[in-house]
Amino acid sequence: MPAFFQSRAGRQCVSIVVFGVTLWLLGTLLHFDDGLVTFMIGFSEYGADKLVLALGIAGAMSFIYSVLRIADLRKEMDLRDAAQAKADWTATHDHLTKLPNRYAFERKLLSRPILDEEAEIEDWARNVTIFSVDLDGFKKVNDLVGHKGGDGLLIEVAKRICALGNADCVYRFGGDEFIIVAFGMTAQREEHFAKLLIQAVTRPILIDGFAVEVGASVGYDRWAEGAEPLEDAAHRADLAMYEAKSRGPNHSLVFEASMQDKVAERAALETSLRAAISKKAIKPFYQPLIDLKTGQLCGFEALARWIGDDGVNIPPPVFIDIAEETGMITALFEDLLAQACSDALDWPEHVTLSFNVSPVQMEDRLLASRILKVLSASRLPPQRLEVEITENALIQDPAVAAVVLDELHAAGIQIALDDFGTGYSSLAQLARYRFDKIKIDKSFVATYRDDERQEKIVRAMLGLGRSLNIKTTAEGVEEHGQLAFLLQLGCDIGQGYLFGKAMPAAEASIFISDRNASLASTA
Ligand code: C2E
Ligand code: CA
Ligand code: CA
Repeated sequence: MPAFFQSRAGRQCVSIVVFGVTLWLLGTLLHFDDGLVTFMIGFSEYGADKLVLALGIAGAMSFIYSVLRIADLRKEMDLRDAAQAKADWTATHDHLTKLPNRYAFERKLLSRPILDEEAEIEDWARNVTIFSVDLDGFKKVNDLVGHKGGDGLLIEVAKRICALGNADCVYRFGGDEFIIVAFGMTAQREEHFAKLLIQAVTRPILIDGFAVEVGASVGYDRWAEGAEPLEDAAHRADLAMYEAKSRGPNHSLVFEASMQDKVAERAALETSLRAAISKKAIKPFYQPLIDLKTGQLCGFEALARWIGDDGVNIPPPVFIDIAEETGMITALFEDLLAQACSDALDWPEHVTLSFNVSPVQMEDRLLASRILKVLSASRLPPQRLEVEITENALIQDPAVAAVVLDELHAAGIQIALDDFGTGYSSLAQLARYRFDKIKIDKSFVATYRDDERQEKIVRAMLGLGRSLNIKTTAEGVEEHGQLAFLLQLGCDIGQGYLFGKAMPAAEASIFISDRNASLASTA
């Protein structure tokens, strides 16, 4: 039906015209016109003919006016429709990539399908697969090429994903996460498509003359159409994607029920971690740091230990990770640091306390003042504290990291660069920040004998430390052979199972007296 007849004004106009024509026909049939002529002739000297002419013209003018008003109204409605459509688009699309967003997905705007060439058209409605894609290392690229460059990368990634399928079936769920809805795929085809997605995303992308690369983790699952909302399938695809991500970059996995169990386990762990922090059940243990030139104990590194209610030891990387993600890290850190500072007061003055700071904490502008507050409450001199940070902790927010490190240095606290050689852009960081110590990661100490290249790297790292006048610590010293090699290369400090594992405070005190006794007997 034409738009004109759809509007109320249009319908009224038609009704009036029909009514007018009916009246005219009736008038003609009943010869009203003859009566009118007679009437006008009779009264023409009083100007009735002119009055009828005026009424006729007025009628025509009103008609034209009405038509114009209707046209105006139509235009107004078109504008309103366009504004509505624009608002709708804005609410359901991502501005950067122009892809539909999570809201569009939730409204199930599934339109034209990505079809597997082999699949029958009528199959698609019964066979929907949701792919969840998350970029690996996007943050690093963002830091490298800036936010504008990062935007350019996301646009290119979106284009590449769309090129594999259909733009209407690709959604950006915010950040670096995309959802693809595919139809009519066999299990083999799904696996193949997931690999294609990874290939498409990981090809180098040229941004401002830089060829940058990101990885991609992909998870996917079928939608049980009719039995569940589409979001449930997307949630399972997400779980599979997280599992794929935990296996390293560029993995793809189909959802399995065990992944759901893992999530439940993690949620339970989060609850018990919260309880453990409030009960102060997580304790610092102390691993000795040995001055390799004198054989003397020169410090202890505090390492968090958590024995769960069931007596099982939960590894620090597991609970530190959860504490970081849930924001519990600050409370845990302050508590552990306070315990460690009070333990360190019992040690000889030359024995320092090394304490790990996680990357997330380095984004906290108040980190230095938090540390200083704990120090002053415990009365441990700042010179006896060494903060260990990893290379990755410096790239999240380099400006904040620089301020925090300056404040710590100004207070007299030492800074060690931990896990040296395993992170990101180590040399650039050595040039930019002032470190008092570098800790060579245990992976180098463990492999230097089997791999000549690793040996050369260890030599180079120790040489670098010497020339920059920064002390070096070798981690993971487990054997006498390794100790001899490190001594020969002039490494300053050793840490590892050869000297001692991390131990509770009481054992650390015994370790100190035993070590002193054995040094005295060998002297
Ligand atoms: P890290 O800072 O590199 O700590 C050294 C890790 O190496 C410790 O593992 C230690 O037990 C282990 N280690 C020491 N000597 C040897 C050895 O000879 N051989 C082998 N194979 N391993 C050795 P741990 O205690 O499991 O801690 C793992 C990581 O968890 C730490 O790595 C650190 O990044 C983090 N972490 C531990 N405690 C804390 C904490 O209180 N705060 C923060 N932010 N992170 C912590
Ligand atoms: Ca450390
Ligand atoms: Ca380390």
